[in-house]
Amino acid sequence: MTVKAENKKKTVKTIKINVDKCNGCRACEVICSAFHAMPKYSSINPARSRIRVIRDPLKDVYVPVYAGEYAVAECAGRDKYTIDGKEYEECAFCRASCPSRAEFKEPDSGLPLKCDMCEGEDEPLCVKWCMVDALTFEQREEVVDEGLEKAELEIGLESLIDKFGLQQIMETVARMSKKE
Ligand code: SF4
Ligand code: SF4
Repeated sequence: MTVKAENKKKTVKTIKINVDKCNGCRACEVICSAFHAMPKYSSINPARSRIRVIRDPLKDVYVPVYAGEYAVAECAGRDKYTIDGKEYEECAFCRASCPSRAEFKEPDSGLPLKCDMCEGEDEPLCVKWCMVDALTFEQREEVVDEGLEKAELEIGLESLIDKFGLQQIMETVARMSKKE
């Protein structure tokens, strides 16, 4: 009898954003920055938040954007959006921490920030704190291509090491592991 190897699965977590419900209160930025302060909940600084709200009250614009992957270089072409007659700045919806803008960088060290879905919590805290249900947490199972995963990890690590040096990356990992 042949035993078929089981495919590895991973849980994909997403946060669905309903821009029509967001009122720009920034509670999500407050709780995210407090959760990621060291020690936890010792300070509030939206610059440390992994979610930022594009906020332009005069145009009635409130759009939450999550920190995604780190980009080692700024891109050559940029996006400009007009939605419902409202024009948004270049790069406004981009989730990357990149050299050309200030968003999604740790204020003390300049290291890139990325949403970690509030690792260790049963539900992302920005979702819990959004009183108007503009954010909804969703999870699903996906089959993993392990070869591809390793390659992505190596590319990401190489970029970080090129930018910040191996020593700083190792110190940051050691500091983060002590947090738990
Ligand atoms: S907490 Fe909710 S309503 Fe407030 S800014 Fe964040 S997403 Fe928008
Ligand atoms: S899921 Fe957690 S880490 Fe990600 S933006 Fe929300 S509060 Fe921040």
